[in-house]
Amino acid sequence: MMKIIDELKDAKSIAISGHVRPDGDCVGSVMGLYLYLQKELPAAQIDVYLDKPADIFNCISHITDIKSEFNTNQVYDVFVVLDTVPDRLGDVEPIYERARKKINIDHHISNTGYGDVSVVEPERSSTAELLYELLNPEMIDTEIAMALYIGIIHDTGVLRYSNTSPRTLQVAAELVKTGFDFSQIIEETFFEKTYLQTQIMGRAVLESMRIMDGRCIVSVVSRRMMEFYQVTTKDLDGIVNQLQSVKGVDCAIFMYETGTSEYKVSMRSNGKVDVSAVAMKFGGGGHVRAAGCTMNGTYRDNINNLCKEIAEQF
Ligand code: 5GP
Ligand code: MN
Repeated sequence: MMKIIDELKDAKSIAISGHVRPDGDCVGSVMGLYLYLQKELPAAQIDVYLDKPADIFNCISHITDIKSEFNTNQVYDVFVVLDTVPDRLGDVEPIYERARKKINIDHHISNTGYGDVSVVEPERSSTAELLYELLNPEMIDTEIAMALYIGIIHDTGVLRYSNTSPRTLQVAAELVKTGFDFSQIIEETFFEKTYLQTQIMGRAVLESMRIMDGRCIVSVVSRRMMEFYQVTTKDLDGIVNQLQSVKGVDCAIFMYETGTSEYKVSMRSNGKVDVSAVAMKFGGGGHVRAAGCTMNGTYRDNINNLCKEIAEQF
């Protein structure tokens, strides 16, 4: 397998980014690579661009180096896109377009490969696991390891989803060997919720509905509800997983309002439905068991349109 340093060693300026509304794998792999390259290429200018991550990720070293608001015409020698296709880069996309060399590292099955160097392995649990394989293990210190570990545990539900392979566990073991408090990391970044996060999850579960003979469960959070509980979209992580864990459910659909008649859709399945295929019909993507898209229309219309696709698979 190639080592990423072979593609970067001559670069004087490098930008790293991931997808909008970054999740744990996105933040972990972006920061893991950032910390790693600072060590391997101390003379290079390395910038990291990302929407401001949730506060739970403040434990990651140098997280405040992330540029969330920027205005630059800089042309980077290399731009590395992690955990996504370039069209989900958000505001940083023009900087990506101008870069002299483009590298894409991802594990989404919907990613068909972009840029000059593309490493897409859908059988990988996480971008963080894939990235680990591209790094020199002896250069991975505790702080780099912790960032990558966060990526792995977030995309595998703490090493329990079916995307966890024997190799995932080996990589996790190598990372843990560097000596960080993995138990605390799991608790504080994955399980712990604020009281308001717990309340809005409770509300979404309470108001959920089972449809299609109980095989599908749906719920929605409106902007008014978010205002009432004083939460932002970052506080809604985990709701769709909670819905999916209901006995008998093959597919969970959760959406939250992002604008007038605009919803962000999250889907989870137990494997009987390919939710990535469903999401791709509506311009999104993801994995067989976890995918998402953005939809325009009322909640009811969106559910109907998604369920038509799901029913065809049943
Ligand atoms: P989540 O439901 O946690 O936001 O996302 C589940 C999976 O689907 C993640 O791997 C995420 O990257 C992917 N995903 C979510 N929304 C979109 C989207 O709008 N477009 C694409 N291509 N992938 C998405
Ligand atoms: Mn991921």
